[in-house]
Amino acid sequence: MHVFRQFKALIVGLVSLILFGLNVSVHAQTAAKANTANSVDVLWLGQAGFRVKSPNGKIILIDPWITGGPKTPPMYKNDLAAIGPVDLLLVTHAHVDHIGDAPALAKLNNTKLYGPADMVTPLITLGILPADLGFRFNKTGRVNPLPGIKVTAVQAEHSSLLVWKNPATEKLESHPAGEAMGYIIELENGFKIWHMGDTGLFADMKFISEYYKPDLVMIPIGGNFTMAPDDAAYALRTWVKPKMVIPMHYNSNPLAKGTLAEFQEAMKGSAIKIIPMTEGQTVQF
Ligand SMILES: [Zn+2]
Repeated sequence: MHVFRQFKALIVGLVSLILFGLNVSVHAQTAAKANTANSVDVLWLGQAGFRVKSPNGKIILIDPWITGGPKTPPMYKNDLAAIGPVDLLLVTHAHVDHIGDAPALAKLNNTKLYGPADMVTPLITLGILPADLGFRFNKTGRVNPLPGIKVTAVQAEHSSLLVWKNPATEKLESHPAGEAMGYIIELENGFKIWHMGDTGLFADMKFISEYYKPDLVMIPIGGNFTMAPDDAAYALRTWVKPKMVIPMHYNSNPLAKGTLAEFQEAMKGSAIKIIPMTEGQTVQF
């Protein structure tokens, strides 16, 4: 009995040592990963919202639907400051699940909001965004918002309307807000991301991909408002052919029923690497 107890204690000790050791090595790896210089870190905030850390440490925020987003990671949901300092703010169009908290984040960070010219103008004239925090460009326009970073607006097959509650009347108003766009974001090391925004299929996806050669594509798969999983798979296999793809714009709106499983099924056999993300997850490139 005594011997058995000693043996048991020895085993327990060994197991905890092994577990402790494993734990330490996992933490070390996480810490090392988090500190990897020159990496591109992509965090999914839900729907079409991403936070991208560039190789030089610049923070780029795209389509931040935070406080109203049903799948926003809890740590950011009621605390826009928790997203951290923002160096570049990009909005693809004025629908609420894309413009989201962008004006508030522009003011909070004193950083310019980049978007379709005819969306930024009403934001300014209605008093939603201070004039010095709006940057207007348009489909096919290219800007250099930060050293070594280029952003090109590209076509998206979609619409753009701004719905705004007028504080004077307490009534909702609809305002034309330009045309929806996608973005080619080229980082300091040449890594190129194509955030497609909301879009249906259009044959110039082939031209855009051949001309800009994106490494990573963020593609909507939810359907109803955008491509569905089979449409997205067709575009990727036939026209876009990137190295990697992150499916987005699903799992947040009951009308956009497309699922990750359907997308994966439709992509079966393709050499394009699918990176399935969950809201709040960060992937490093
Ligand atoms: Zn939209």
